[in-house]
Amino acid sequence: DSAVADHTVDSVCPYCGVGCQLTYHVKDDSILFVEGRNGPSNQNRLCVKGRFGFDYPRHPSRLTRPLIRKSGVPKRLDPAFDPAQPLTHFREASWEEALDLASQGLVDLKTAHGPDALAGFGSAKCSNEEAWLFQKLVRTGFGSNHVDHCTRLCHASSVAALMECIGSGAVTASFMQVLESDVVILTGCNPAVNHPVAATYFKQAARNGTKLIIIDPRGQGLSAYAHMSVRFSPGADVSLFNAMLNVIVTEELFDQAYIDAHTEGFAALKAHVVDMTPDAMAPACGVDPDTIREVARLYARAERAMIFWGMGISQHTHGTDNARCLISLALACGQTGRSGTGLHPLRGQNNVQGASDAGLIPMVLPDYQPVGDDQIRSAFEELWNTPLEARPGLTVVEIMDAIHAGQIKGMYIQGENPAMSDPDLDHARAALASLEHLVVQDLFVTETAQYADVILPASAWSEKEGTVTNTNRQVQLGRAAVPLPGEARPDWWIIQEIARRFGLDWDYTHPREVFAEMKQGMPSLDNITWERLEREKSVTYPCPAEDAPGADVVFSDAFPRAGGKAKFAPTRPLPPDEPVDGDYPTVLTTGRQLEHWHTGSMTRRSQVLDDLEPEAVASVSPAELVRLGVSPGEPITITTRRGAITLKVRVDPLMAEGMVFVPFCYVEAAANLLTNPALDPYGKIPEFKYAACRLSPA
Ligand code: SF4
Repeated sequence: DSAVADHTVDSVCPYCGVGCQLTYHVKDDSILFVEGRNGPSNQNRLCVKGRFGFDYPRHPSRLTRPLIRKSGVPKRLDPAFDPAQPLTHFREASWEEALDLASQGLVDLKTAHGPDALAGFGSAKCSNEEAWLFQKLVRTGFGSNHVDHCTRLCHASSVAALMECIGSGAVTASFMQVLESDVVILTGCNPAVNHPVAATYFKQAARNGTKLIIIDPRGQGLSAYAHMSVRFSPGADVSLFNAMLNVIVTEELFDQAYIDAHTEGFAALKAHVVDMTPDAMAPACGVDPDTIREVARLYARAERAMIFWGMGISQHTHGTDNARCLISLALACGQTGRSGTGLHPLRGQNNVQGASDAGLIPMVLPDYQPVGDDQIRSAFEELWNTPLEARPGLTVVEIMDAIHAGQIKGMYIQGENPAMSDPDLDHARAALASLEHLVVQDLFVTETAQYADVILPASAWSEKEGTVTNTNRQVQLGRAAVPLPGEARPDWWIIQEIARRFGLDWDYTHPREVFAEMKQGMPSLDNITWERLEREKSVTYPCPAEDAPGADVVFSDAFPRAGGKAKFAPTRPLPPDEPVDGDYPTVLTTGRQLEHWHTGSMTRRSQVLDDLEPEAVASVSPAELVRLGVSPGEPITITTRRGAITLKVRVDPLMAEGMVFVPFCYVEAAANLLTNPALDPYGKIPEFKYAACRLSPA
C-alpha cells in the first residue's frame, strides 16, 4: 500500500511561534503526511500550514548543489525568475570551491576594510544551535556585532519595552493560561490567521466564559467569539491605551498593594495620564469614550486578566511606546505573576524566541546580556577564547543604510530574505546589489539569493536535528525525518566550514555539542539538557531543577530588574511617521495570510498551500470597492511615495474603511516596495503597519 508509512518521526512544525508538535509519517525517505501530536501548545491540533505545508523541501527548484555567480552577470532581481528552469546566472560548484570562494571574499573585505565592513543575518527559521553558531561566527570571526535577524522586523520594539520595564523580553505566561483568565485583551494581533492553534485556546476560553476583548483597527475571525470588539483609528494605539490608564487612575481601579510591592514610578504615570481622558483621546482614537471606560473597567476589575499583542502593536515608529502602555496596564492592575494573568507578545516565526535568546541580536550577547558590559563580555571571551567587540552592532535596516553609505561591503545571509521582507524594497535591493560580496545560504534561489555571489544549499527543518523555542518559552526538539537531497548540508555544518576558513578552531560533530556549549553562556537553559528534551519532548524555561517542570507563569515574587521591581514608562501619543493626506489618503497595512508564511519561500512551494492562495490580492472594505468602481478580482494599483504595485482586489467586510491590507509574500506584487522604512527609535523596527497610499483602478 503506497499510502502506508514505513516509520514515523516526531518533530515540531516549522512555521509559527505556537510550536505545534507533529509526527511525520515517512515511506521510502518521503513524508507521506503529517499528524498533530499531543504537545503542550497544540494537544494534537495543527493548522493548514502544519498539516499540509510539509512538501516544500522536495520542490523541483530545491537547491542541491552550491552555486557560484558567473562572472560579469549583473546583480538584479528578476520577478519573473523561474526556479524550475535551468539557471543562467549561476554555475554549479563543488562544496570545496564554493566554501573557499564564499569565505575568501569575506576575509578579503575584512583584511582590506576592517571588521565593520562585514555583517550577517541569521534566521529564526533555523535551530537554536544554528543561531548560536551564526552569531558566534560574526562576533569571533567577522569581529563585529553586526548580526541581526527577523526579530528586528517583528517584536524588537516589544522586547525593548519588556527589557526596560520588567527586565525580560519573553512572555510572562503561556497562551494556555487563557483557560484560567476572566478577561483577555487581544490587540494588534490576528491569531486565527497568524497563530491558528493558539486561536483555538482563545475560542475555548470564550466558550468557558472568558471575556475576550479585541482591540484592532481591523475586524477578524475571532471577533465572533469576542465579548467586545473595539475598532480604533490606525496608529492611535498610544492615545487609546493612555485613555484606558486615565480611567484606571481616576476611578482608582489600580491595585495599590501590587504596585507598592512590585513596581516603581507609578506616581509619575498617574500624573502623566491625568489629562488623557477618554473624552480628550476619543477623537484621535475614533472610539466612543464610554467604550474606552468599559474596556478599562473590565480589564482592571477582572480577577485574572491577560494581554496578548502582535505586529499591529510592534510594527510602528511608536511600537515600543505601544508595548510600554500595555505593560503599564498590567502593572497598574496587578495582572502578572499569577495563573491566568500576564503579558504575551505572540511570537511570529517558529524560532524567533530561540534565535533571539541565542544571540542573533546586535546589541546583546546570548540571553540578552549587553555587549557593552565588560564583565559579561569577558565571560564570553573566556568561553570562546577570543576578544570581542564592545560596540553594539547595526540592526537590519541600519545595515542596509550602511551598505549604501559604503561601510558594509560584504554579507553572509542565512535563511532570511531581505529582498522581500525589508521595508522600501527598492532601497534594500539596491543595497544587496551593491555589496562587493554576498553569501546566501538557503533552500532555494530566493529573491535575496538572486543577488548572491555564492549560494550554499542548506537544510529544511524536516531534514535535521535541533532545538527550537516557541512563544511560550517551551524548548522543543526537532528531528530529521528524511535525508538531505543531493549535496545539501545541515546549516550548522555550513556555518562551521565558513568559520574554519576564518581560522576558527571549531570541531562540532552534532548539534547536541553546540547545545551543551550554549548552556555555558545562557542561564535560561539551566536544568534543560539535550537528553531531557529527547525524553520529555518539551521543557519550559526558566526551569528550577532537572526533575521539575519549567515555569509556565513567571515573576510571581520579583522581576529580574535591580531591586526586583518593574518600572512604569509613561508615553506620549505621536502621529504616524507618514500620516495620510490629500495625495495619499489611504492607510496601507501589511502582514501574513493563513496559508502563506512570511516571504513565501516555503509555502509558495508547498502545493496545497499555494493552490489555496495562488496570487497576490489586496483586501479593502465594501465601501472602498464601491468608491474605486471596481469588482472583486479586478486589478487595482496601490501607490506610495516609494513605489507602486498592481494586484487583484478582494472585498473584506472586516477591513476598516480608508485602509488596504496587502500580504508581503508575493514577489510579483511585493508589498514592501510600498512600505515606510521609518524606524521606532528604541526597537529599530520599521513602520510596516502604517504607510500613506493611493488606490486606483489599474
Ligand atoms: Fe504550525 Fe503554527 Fe499552524 Fe501550529 S499553528 S501547525 S505551529 S503554523
